[in-house]
Amino acid sequence: MDIRHGSFQGGTPLSQNYETVEDAVNEAANQAVHACCQGTFSVGGVMLDNTGYVLNALHNNVVEAGMTFDPTAHGERQLIDWYYDQLSQGALLPPPEAITIVTSLDPCCMCSGAILGSGFNVVSAAFDTFSGINYTTQADFPSLTPALRAMAQTTFSYPEVNGDSCFARPATSAPVADFFSQTVIDQNTQALCLSVFEATLGTVQDTVNHDLPLDELLDPATLALDDPIVVALKAVYPQALSYKAPSPGTPDVGLASLLLDAAARDVEQGGKGSSVAFLDAFGNLMLCLPGNQAHSPAHTPFMLTTRTWAQLRHQLFQQEGERTLQYLGHPKFGTFVLTLGHDTSAASLMDLGAYGSTMEEALPADNPYSLQYVVPSIPQSELTAWCQTLPPLYSQSIGVYPQQVTDQALIDAVTEGLPQAISRSEASYA
Ligand SMILES: [Zn+2]
Repeated sequence: MDIRHGSFQGGTPLSQNYETVEDAVNEAANQAVHACCQGTFSVGGVMLDNTGYVLNALHNNVVEAGMTFDPTAHGERQLIDWYYDQLSQGALLPPPEAITIVTSLDPCCMCSGAILGSGFNVVSAAFDTFSGINYTTQADFPSLTPALRAMAQTTFSYPEVNGDSCFARPATSAPVADFFSQTVIDQNTQALCLSVFEATLGTVQDTVNHDLPLDELLDPATLALDDPIVVALKAVYPQALSYKAPSPGTPDVGLASLLLDAAARDVEQGGKGSSVAFLDAFGNLMLCLPGNQAHSPAHTPFMLTTRTWAQLRHQLFQQEGERTLQYLGHPKFGTFVLTLGHDTSAASLMDLGAYGSTMEEALPADNPYSLQYVVPSIPQSELTAWCQTLPPLYSQSIGVYPQQVTDQALIDAVTEGLPQAISRSEASYA
C-alpha cells in the first residue's frame, strides 16, 4: 500500500482519479465557491499525481474571520507547502515534475514563482488579465526571463474551453498531462471559475485593506514589557523593539548586525544568506527573519516574514481586539528591508508577488518605499525594468518597485559583514 494516500494534513483528500480536465477544473471551481463563502479570494486548486489521482484539494485562505490571516495563503502556494510538509514527514510522493496543479484561476506572480521554483506542472482554467502570470493570455509570459519562459511554456497549460460563448477558447501553451488528453473544459465551468472570482474580488481587497489609518496608530515601543502585545511579539522574535530607525522608512547602520545574524541562520536553513527585517510605521524593528528553504523552496525570508506578521496580528486580534490594530499596523505603513536585493529568479518573482499580495492596493503616497534592500543582486535599473513587466496589479496598480536603502553606512556594514556571516555559518553547519 502506498502511504501517500493515508497521510493528509488539512485540505480535502478525495480518494479518486480524474480522467478529464473538466472533472479536475470542476473540483477547483467547487473549492473556489468554498473560498467565496469564507469571504476570501474565490480561487481553488487540486493537486494530482501523474495518473490523475487526487493528492489534495484546497482553496485560498488569505482572509479568515473577516481579517487577513496570511497574504501568502493562495491555493497553489498552500498546495506546494503541503507537498513539502508531507515529504518532510516521510510521505512517498512523486517528484514535482510528475505532479499537476489544476487551478480555477491563472496563478499570480507569487504562486508562479513558487511553481517554477519547484518544477510542478499547472493547468489553469480562467485567465486573469490583471494579476495572472499569463496576463496577456498569449502564453508569452512577459514577466519571465527567457529560461523561465521556456519552462512555463512546457509546464503551464491553458486547455481548450468548449462552446460558443465568450468563455470558449483554444488550447495554448503546454499540452495537458497524458491522463487528460483529448478532454476539454466545459464553458459553464470556466464561467463559474471566472465569475465567482470577479464577483468577490473588490470586497476581499477591501477586507485586506480594512485597517486603521496612519494617524490612528500608536507606538508599541511605549508599551510595558509585560503587555500581551509585546510578549507575543518577543515570543516570535526576541529582538523585537530592540532597534528603531532614526526616521520611519530610513533604516541606518544599527540594523546591520540584526540582518547579518538572521542571514547566517538563513544559510543554516538552506538559503543563500538573506534575511528580511520588518520595521513598523514608527521605525521600530518588529521582525527580522531568515528563510527555511531546506524545508520548502517557498519558505524564503520574505515569505515567512510577511506571513508571520499577518498571523501575529490575526492571533492577537482574537485575544486583544482593536488595540492590536492600533499598535500593530498594516504593513503598508511599515518597511520591509531585505539583506539581499531581488534578481529575476523564480524565488524573486515569488517574493515580489507576495509583497503585492500583502499590499493589494496602491501604496500610501507618504510611504512609497515600503520594500527596500541593502545589497543589490542586480543593478537597480535592471530590477526596475523587470518590475515594469509584471502584471498590471503589481506594475501599475500597487507599484512594486523595490529600492536600495539610502544609508551608506548600513550598505557598507552589510556588504562587508555578509561573506563573513555566511562562511562562519557554513563552517558551523558543516
Ligand atoms: Zn497566487
